[in-house]
Amino acid sequence: MRIIMLGAPGAGKGTQAKKIAEKYNIPHISTGDIFRANIKNETELGKKAKSYMDQGMLVPDELTISLVMDRFQEPDARNGYVLDGFPRTIPQAESLDAALKESGSQIDHAINVDVPDEAIVKRMSGRRACVNCGATYHLQYAAPKKDGVCDHCGEGLILRDDDKPETVEKRLGVYHDQTQPLIDYYAQKGVLKEVDGTRDLEEVFGQIKKILGE
Ligand code: ADP
Ligand code: ADP
Ligand code: ZN
Repeated sequence: MRIIMLGAPGAGKGTQAKKIAEKYNIPHISTGDIFRANIKNETELGKKAKSYMDQGMLVPDELTISLVMDRFQEPDARNGYVLDGFPRTIPQAESLDAALKESGSQIDHAINVDVPDEAIVKRMSGRRACVNCGATYHLQYAAPKKDGVCDHCGEGLILRDDDKPETVEKRLGVYHDQTQPLIDYYAQKGVLKEVDGTRDLEEVFGQIKKILGE
């Protein structure tokens, strides 16, 4: 099963992608997580990506596409994946199509997690991320067991720099300009599925399971 998660920053793509990956036994491929791991490890890629991310801009397509194509070569991605945060532009979607065509496969579902902008800004200010393993929490809606500490690895939780309100506004603008057109793109291919991302985490996952088959 090959799945794409669409939706604004903070819509809940990552949260749902992790649940999908676990239930359907496919890898969760998050370009944001890959970039953040590279920044943490101070790689060349990380150095290049950081300045864009800090400003709430997209990392250039060329860099992003080659990173995803490399990830597809790993054995766990052979039979499917859930893509979270990629594609984010029409050129990225076209590159993905070309790669799929070459391997004789296709996207089964592009799931749009729909959340209006007003709700996004509120959600992002409450998001907390683990500095070590990338797990995400929310102060109200998905709180860790112990304040400020990751349930999975025990490390500290932070508010990501790019989740501060000024940067969130910027990222929403970038989303509307560059990423939202993908909704029509995948609708035209007949694989677009919509879920109401304003519902609680489990309800959203319930809608997704109906789409994917229990
Ligand atoms: P969110 O889901 O909260 O928007 P992500 O973790 O997916 O955040 O992405 C964080 C940042 O990483 C983005 O704002 C962007 O700078 C960069 N990024 C992630 N995926 C892509 C992509 N497919 N194309 C370009 N930049 C990306
Ligand atoms: P994205 O990957 O689309 O940027 P996340 O999955 O990181 O979004 O979710 C953004 C924030 O909102 C996180 O703090 C997460 O815990 C929280 N969240 C995710 N889904 C929901 C939901 N359905 N209701 C309330 N909060 C949610
Ligand atoms: Zn952790």
